[in-house]
Amino acid sequence: MKGRILVVGSLNMDLVVRASRHPLIGETILGGVFATFPGGKGANQAVAAARMGVSVSMVGCVGKDGFGDELLRALALDGIDSAHVSVVENQATGIALITVDSEGRNTIVVASGANLILSARHLESARAAFSSADVLVLQLETPLETVREAARMAKQMGKQVVLNPAPAQPLDAELLSLVDYFIPNEREAMQVAGADSLDDAIKKLLDMGVSNLLVTLGEKGVLVATRAGRASIPAFSVEAIDTVAAGDAFVGAFSAGLANGMRLEDAVRLANAAAAVSVTRRGAQPSLPTWDDAQELLERRF
Ligand code: ADP
Repeated sequence: MKGRILVVGSLNMDLVVRASRHPLIGETILGGVFATFPGGKGANQAVAAARMGVSVSMVGCVGKDGFGDELLRALALDGIDSAHVSVVENQATGIALITVDSEGRNTIVVASGANLILSARHLESARAAFSSADVLVLQLETPLETVREAARMAKQMGKQVVLNPAPAQPLDAELLSLVDYFIPNEREAMQVAGADSLDDAIKKLLDMGVSNLLVTLGEKGVLVATRAGRASIPAFSVEAIDTVAAGDAFVGAFSAGLANGMRLEDAVRLANAAAAVSVTRRGAQPSLPTWDDAQELLERRF
């Protein structure tokens, strides 16, 4: 696919231990296998988009440590341009400490580290990458002021802006009106809007200036809402074994479709297919499909 994406966002190393159960407070237990996986919503979405075949550049920060080196290598393996990922002194690379019990339930503690250093200065030095991109992709694992500044820069240059508000926090109308495609899951939509129901959240978000709202609904697919109306686009029916990074697969593939010039519904269908493939595989980045994987599912069902 042609098209160029810029992702401004987080890079984390996921540190995963499996254990028979979660420890109690003050308790030490022996766990099982330990593994590290490249992650962070920004990097996951960058990889998801790159595997669809579009050109991807990333702006972010890692620490000057082994995890930072590994994360940069992981981006390179997927052909992602990391010239604007800064290696910062005196900050550890972001990590997510994940414990998974025998029933697959997890607890996660994120230490954002270098991700919190990402500032307008880093965006300014990546100005050329902004101007050559078709679509800017943002999440909320980096400072909100940097997210806002990135959206402003992209809008001034006439680019399309995608924001995945995860992890959720209340957002103001000024930021929401800079976004062309706002992609929360159901819980995030309600949290961002401060609403008790999805219906109420949708109304509030549209009132606050969201132009295209895409609420992902897990196995129920996606609800697309604009001022002109609402439409439901179904998910693909697959055997889900691990839904980690389903949202990232969706956002990355959707943005790739947009950058490629696809119509909204076609980009959503591609993203549903990519996310459906991802839930049939374990892990975050290892589960993200290629364009061919997504096409196989699209052709099988339509
Ligand atoms: P998040 O991972 O952010 O919580 P969702 O659970 O809404 O987001 O999933 C994002 C997208 O992934 C959905 O819109 C859908 O396309 C796909 N998806 C998630 N779970 C399934 C499933 N069980 N079967 C098929 N597709 C799924």
